[in-house]
Amino acid sequence: MSGQDGRRRDELAAGLSQVRQRIDRACAGAQRDPAEVTLVVVTKTFPASDVAALVDLGVRDVGENRDQDAAAKVLATDVLLAAGQSRPRWHFVGQLQRNKAASVARYADVVHSVDRLALARALGKAAHQAGRRLEVLLQVSLDDPQGASGRGGVAPSELLDLAAGVAGTEGLDLRGLMAVAPLDGPPGPAFARLAGLAGQLREQHQGATWISAGMSGDLEEAVAHGATHLRVGSAVLGSRPSLR
Ligand SMILES: *Cc1c(COP(=O)(O)O)cnc(C)c1O
Repeated sequence: MSGQDGRRRDELAAGLSQVRQRIDRACAGAQRDPAEVTLVVVTKTFPASDVAALVDLGVRDVGENRDQDAAAKVLATDVLLAAGQSRPRWHFVGQLQRNKAASVARYADVVHSVDRLALARALGKAAHQAGRRLEVLLQVSLDDPQGASGRGGVAPSELLDLAAGVAGTEGLDLRGLMAVAPLDGPPGPAFARLAGLAGQLREQHQGATWISAGMSGDLEEAVAHGATHLRVGSAVLGSRPSLR
């Protein structure tokens, strides 16, 4: 390992340890077991060498938000991983066009951003053809008015219809919900609303127990409201170029 690689590894180790401490404190405050909370490190814009270093530091779950970058990074990471090291679980967390579904279905283990049935069907078909299954989360829009931000997500009023369609789609396993906190306003009330929707979903789909919420700036609020998956980028990897 070169000196530069060693320094980067130290930076990542420090970021990771800070984030894990934040999660542990948030869990203690919410009287939750940290083992219920999965940290998904969002590596978008950072190189495969960072992913390999993170895996070596014990990270099991990584997230990406663009198909083109992710497809290349998955391959590059596989090459970098030491023999015997198991590959991470790849989470696709970004908005997804239907024409990218076949690509994503080849490498992703989990897709967090399913917000319409046509997309779900395309993912399921591609996964089935590839001899795989995908775990999927339904992205809910917590923006008001819904959709105004262009960040995707199904309207809460349409959530249960979408869930029924996804549950009936071959190749997909419905695991739960995902949301991004609104840009304008505190995250707490939005995450509380998400928790309520997750309860409704679970009544009809017992296996749909995951809540993906919380990022670098609001992971404590997400843990307080029952998040099972946190998607954390910059707090682990440092700030990225504003382009995303
Ligand atoms: C980039 C991204 C994150 C991580 O954001 P940070 O603020 O860097 O932690 C989480 N979720 C989604 C959907 C993202 O695109």
